[in-house]
Amino acid sequence: MSKYIFVTGGVVSSLGKGMSAATIGALLKARGFKVRIRKLDPYLNIDPGTMSPLQHGEVYVTEDGAETDLDLGHYERFLSQNSHSTDSISGGKIYYNVLMKERRGDYLGATVQMIPNVTDEIKEFISSGLVEEDFVICEVGGTVGDIESLVFLEAIRQYANDIGRKNAMFIHVTLLPYIETVKELKTKPTQHSVKNLLEKGIQADMLLCRCIKNISEAERAKLALFCNIEKSNIIPAVDVDNVYKLPNLYYSAGVDQRVLEYFNIKSEEHSPNMQKWEELAKRIDSVKEKVNIALVVKYGDASDAYKSLNEALHHSAWDENLDMQIKWVNAESLEKMQDITPVFEKITGIIVPGGFGERGTVGKMKAINYARVNNIPYFGICFGLQLAIIEFARNVVGIKNANTTEFEHPCSPVISLMTEWISKGELEKRSQNSDKGGTLRLGSYPCKIVETSLAHSIYKVDFIHERHRHRYEMNTNYEEIYRSNGLYVTGRSPDGVLPEIIELKNHPFFLGVQFHPEFKSTPFKPHPIFSNFLLAAKRAGGG
Ligand code: GLN
Repeated sequence: MSKYIFVTGGVVSSLGKGMSAATIGALLKARGFKVRIRKLDPYLNIDPGTMSPLQHGEVYVTEDGAETDLDLGHYERFLSQNSHSTDSISGGKIYYNVLMKERRGDYLGATVQMIPNVTDEIKEFISSGLVEEDFVICEVGGTVGDIESLVFLEAIRQYANDIGRKNAMFIHVTLLPYIETVKELKTKPTQHSVKNLLEKGIQADMLLCRCIKNISEAERAKLALFCNIEKSNIIPAVDVDNVYKLPNLYYSAGVDQRVLEYFNIKSEEHSPNMQKWEELAKRIDSVKEKVNIALVVKYGDASDAYKSLNEALHHSAWDENLDMQIKWVNAESLEKMQDITPVFEKITGIIVPGGFGERGTVGKMKAINYARVNNIPYFGICFGLQLAIIEFARNVVGIKNANTTEFEHPCSPVISLMTEWISKGELEKRSQNSDKGGTLRLGSYPCKIVETSLAHSIYKVDFIHERHRHRYEMNTNYEEIYRSNGLYVTGRSPDGVLPEIIELKNHPFFLGVQFHPEFKSTPFKPHPIFSNFLLAAKRAGGG
């Protein structure tokens, strides 16, 4: 039977519960266990697809096409395994499912209540679709004490009771604030948070205490006493300068060892292999050559909104021994400038990532034009491909009103709505009036690459699978005229219908992709496009 680890958070938000869950998963995987991580988000949105990335961080897309919380990205990067659409659910979706069941008459006229109907729906999610995992780690979003979290905490309490308390462990991630004037880490907020959990019937079994300096033995003893937890399960989670050092930190603190002891599993029979994590930490600290990259984005410096992209770039940089610096360029700020050259001083690679809506697009196209004309390596991701096409159509081909129908109608529609495509064997149709939520082309689709292309020299294979999240696409009616001007489609869906990759001839590196390669990069398997882009940027800088 699977063992369940429930991860909750207390005191404040943004403590890195997701990172903690991912790290515990990585440590158990390093001991050879089969691990699954799931996320329960109490908020009322049906899914994160339409939530602002500025408020909530990026929308992460799984291989099977779910728009999920960015924590699923951490899980994939730490565990080097795919998450599934069934690994993340929100409060909104839970209530939606319950209300749909009520409408269908599934409850046979019974009164529909938080307990048991909503709690049962949550419990069903926790246990659904498992395939003999040794450990199921369930992260509960939000902070203990939130109104939205209540029913989720009740559901996990019941779950532990149903499967037997010894098969479930509650790990609480909390904060020990450091008060400079008295030079002390304070334990009181944590005591209150643990009590708050206890009021809901949940006794925490382990505390991961976020703190800026190590916890003294006296403080650990105090927490153990007041929180009713074994002292050895009070774990200091001291800040690290890089999240990929967390597995080493938690391993040294004995987290996985204590987890196995809790479940009465003999750790000697499952010895850990931490080598790859140790090597990664060394690689991160030994980068040498500098390379400066600009990301031209709508939101300015908002690394959470572009989490996977930021991570993918770093994975490749560490792998190529590059000390990469990212300059976040607010696209709108470029729009009023006569000369944007000073912004890109020392920059030897420009990326325009995925995006939605018109704001900032003029600035993004200015940056693309700058990269194209000045032979600076350019990598356009999704919207970055679409804007590169618009820029090319307007300034090289001379189609002055070239645009995307996403925000201009009528225009010369060089980017337009894809009305049909095959998804999981079925024909999907979209129209200009389709709902904004749940109507994108999502998840992994195959792409065939032209043999003599830059893309082929990067991937070194004919067929690839990459993840998508877009509604619009390149209009192939203009393809011939682009080609005669030096812009080529070098990757397409295998039926030849949908363009997936474009590149420019006579440029050191100008690549646009309709998909999001950043979702598939891990620190142990950096994505080849990012690695090749950074190498091109290094060359452009004379390296
Ligand atoms: N807004 C564009 C579309 O919907 C691009 C989306 C993206 O960059 N992810 O097609």
